[in-house]
Amino acid sequence: MEMAQIGATPKGGVRRLALSDLDRQGRDLFKRWCEDAGLTVRTDAIGNTFARREGRDPKRLPVLFGSHLDSQPSGGKFDGALGVLAGLEVMRTLDDLDITTEAPIEVVNWTDEEGSRFGHSLMGSGVWAGVYDRAKVEALADQEGLTVAEALARTGIGGPEEPTAFPADAYFELHIEQGPILERERKAIGIVTGAQAQIWYDAVVTGQDAHAGTTPPSARRDALVCAARIIDLVDRIMRARGDDGRGTVGQLSVLPNTRNVVPGEVRFSVEFRHPDLEEVRRAAMEFSAEANAIAQASTTELDLHQLFEIPAQPFDAECVDLVRQAAARLELPSREIISGAGHDAVYVARHVPTAMIFTPCENGLSHNEAESILPEEAQAGCQVLFEVVLARANAPRGA
Ligand SMILES: [Zn+2]
Repeated sequence: MEMAQIGATPKGGVRRLALSDLDRQGRDLFKRWCEDAGLTVRTDAIGNTFARREGRDPKRLPVLFGSHLDSQPSGGKFDGALGVLAGLEVMRTLDDLDITTEAPIEVVNWTDEEGSRFGHSLMGSGVWAGVYDRAKVEALADQEGLTVAEALARTGIGGPEEPTAFPADAYFELHIEQGPILERERKAIGIVTGAQAQIWYDAVVTGQDAHAGTTPPSARRDALVCAARIIDLVDRIMRARGDDGRGTVGQLSVLPNTRNVVPGEVRFSVEFRHPDLEEVRRAAMEFSAEANAIAQASTTELDLHQLFEIPAQPFDAECVDLVRQAAARLELPSREIISGAGHDAVYVARHVPTAMIFTPCENGLSHNEAESILPEEAQAGCQVLFEVVLARANAPRGA
């Protein structure tokens, strides 16, 4: 709740955009809490922060856990912050119980998970994992033209460490589900087995600006009507895939966006997701063929630019099993679940054995100021995180 005061919005949410002054304030508070807990804090050049508690055996690789402190423009208190602050609570609890783990452990705050400011989600973990080129990411600009590199320098968030993956024993991320499944089934814990595949596009439909009163149907090249038909297509392609299908147009800009002009240009986003990469590829192929046909039939042009394809990422079987065991031992009702959202864990998983823990959120609502969880839900998730970190950091290691 104290972290949520930084960037608090009138409707009870949070607006703490990545690499903003408010992000800096949130990070400063987190750093102070970490240092108060005796942790050694270091930050890499893209702003990822690692707060370390030493273990008994300095030769062992660290067990990492965390999430992100940045938020959507009208985000909630818990998306990301729960995982970081639960990580801090794990550290404090180990202090309270006077436990020294065998392996060192580190709580992580990844930079710019949300992607809402610079248009690139999972930025910090993506650079760290080598998925994104650091120079390209640093050159990305926000709507005011400020680049990531400039924002890192201006806020002083960027640190001296090289932002590249270092050897680690495991990574665990606690996160709210951001969907309705756990709440609907009254499960306290989601044992996340992996993340679904995604394909994202930028789309531009070009028609022709024309007078709304004088242009008859035969002469219209209405970019918005074409876009509307394509949006419907996205929805149909999604629904044809049942409960596992996802297809969304979430961003749309209309030019010239005035009421008495037939719109000549529309720019919008398109994305498809599915647990199976082959299925999301089939959806994408179907989409591009049909969308082009729609554009042609509407006498407009469609420029479809695929931004990226992210394969489905299964999590590490042993780490997932630790989550399963912890939930069972604590007698928390749980179920296996596929992550519908992208998470830093998905990129970290390319280098480090990884698993995630989900907790329910009210009405499955997230990326929304009304996002809410119950204290006992946070507690259950945090307890599972504590158990898996302890189990991993104290696991006997063969010679
Ligand atoms: Zn998040």
